[in-house]
Amino acid sequence: MLELSLAIDGPAASGKSVVGRGLAERLGIGFVDTGLIYRTCTLAVIREKIDPLDEQKIFELVEKINMDMRWELLSSPEMFIDNENVTSELRTSIVETNVSYISRIEKVRTNLVARQRDIAQREPVIMAGRDIGTRVLREARTKFFLNASTETRANRRLQETISSGENTSYEEIFVSTQRRDHLDDSGHRAVRPEQASSDAIIVETDNLDVEAVIDLCVSIYRKTNQN
Ligand code: C5P
Repeated sequence: MLELSLAIDGPAASGKSVVGRGLAERLGIGFVDTGLIYRTCTLAVIREKIDPLDEQKIFELVEKINMDMRWELLSSPEMFIDNENVTSELRTSIVETNVSYISRIEKVRTNLVARQRDIAQREPVIMAGRDIGTRVLREARTKFFLNASTETRANRRLQETISSGENTSYEEIFVSTQRRDHLDDSGHRAVRPEQASSDAIIVETDNLDVEAVIDLCVSIYRKTNQN
């Protein structure tokens, strides 16, 4: 099933989640947002009061964590720790600030990549992240890398943050987006187009709306997998 899955990579706030959700609805296959998996581990680290720089303790926690991704809707993965739905806690600023410390630990990544491959072995999925085309689903026939300038991404995130009722400024979001790109730009992850898988299609989204990106991806996916 790995080759029928669709891989989406790109930097923070490049539209992977909104495009992934739209593709799930249009293609009728499940959306796996791997960022949520890294965020769930980060939440567990915070809850256990583990120092985000203590790599060994973090790895031990990740190795044994009982974590699940489940779907009521194909487009909306939800995360559970020990059967507790933690999805609403994953986009808080404390998780956002710490997630890059957890995701840069190589042993943690190896463990989580194996869990992600397990999901895609069962059925084709749309999977979004930073290393999907290059590592998790190298076999996928359709791979996209969504790109956008830091300004565009900060503006998109600002709109999302305002509509969720949080108080913030463009400058604050711009700096935190740059910071996360910088921290994520290590460990063979694709946060810049030149780091994308060589068979990925680079989609420059600055001047495209979400529907146009989804239309493009659907038509390429259908063409690639028509037989
Ligand atoms: O995509 P999202 O912004 O939700 O990802 C949160 C964080 O998880 C990223 O900033 C990155 O540190 C980590 N991540 C990763 N590899 C992935 C997906 C996410 O390192 N495949």
